[in-house]
Amino acid sequence: MIAAVPCGMGPAPIATVCQACRRKVVTTVIRRRNNMFWLVMVLLYFILGIFVLFFFCCDWMMEMHHICPSCGVLIGVFQM
Ligand SMILES: [Zn+2]
Repeated sequence: MIAAVPCGMGPAPIATVCQACRRKVVTTVIRRRNNMFWLVMVLLYFILGIFVLFFFCCDWMMEMHHICPSCGVLIGVFQM
């Protein structure tokens, strides 16, 4: 569930007001690969083979999930 997507959201934690619990919080950021990343990785695996592991070392197609540390709701997502 996404409660709100504040503008100015980036890869680093931000101070915002959680729309779910109405508290002023600094978001907790969880890094995740998006679904497109895995699809591209499977396709590239057939071309590059084991060298596809290189892409796991960089922030390419990484999503930053901003979570409220108070109530745990997903506040917003930033795409690299
Ligand atoms: Zn909250």
